[in-house]
Amino acid sequence: MRLFLALVPPPAQRRRLGELAERAQARCGGRRMPDDSLHLTLAFLGEQPLERAEAIGDWLARFSILPGRWRLDAWGHFRRPGIVWVGGAEGQPALGDLQRQLWDGLEELGISGRPERFAPHITLLRHARRPPGPELPRIAMAWDYTRVELIQSVVTQQGSRYRPLARTAPPEEMP
Ligand code: ATP
Ligand code: MG
Repeated sequence: MRLFLALVPPPAQRRRLGELAERAQARCGGRRMPDDSLHLTLAFLGEQPLERAEAIGDWLARFSILPGRWRLDAWGHFRRPGIVWVGGAEGQPALGDLQRQLWDGLEELGISGRPERFAPHITLLRHARRPPGPELPRIAMAWDYTRVELIQSVVTQQGSRYRPLARTAPPEEMP
């Protein structure tokens, strides 16, 4: 099964991201990510056998993350596949720390594939014809995250759909 670890936006941020995707599509074309699929990928695991998926789910459920706030304030573009995304203009060290910590755990479980670079972003459009420009709305939003999810990506006739399989434990209370 095809798996990845991600942060999933809370409902208010999901709605706002959906509005941004609509505005961006009017200008850039392409295909919108369905609102219920919007996410930030922290680790792409690729095809994994079922036993592995279960081991990852068990590990994740025993683990709790340091909650954080991701400030979203920038449009971005990956030219070759025509991806339009939103992210943070400033470095986001807490997200980088979280990504590293997750990969440390995954490697202990025997999973390889840690990327050389991590560029946190939320894909809004695929196959966009034009990059985002200055006529798109300014972005100023914050996303408070508390949990990481293990998600299965399933190919359907409507494109890939995501199925949550497991998630981290709630954050520990601050002393
Ligand atoms: P589709 O590939 O059918 O267009 P999708 O990209 O949404 O749909 P997946 O390819 O299963 O679905 O990807 C799930 C998540 O993992 C997405 O956030 C995707 O950007 C990311 N991802 C996919 N392949 C890789 C890869 N080789 N390296 C890093 N991240 C990846
Ligand atoms: Mg893909």
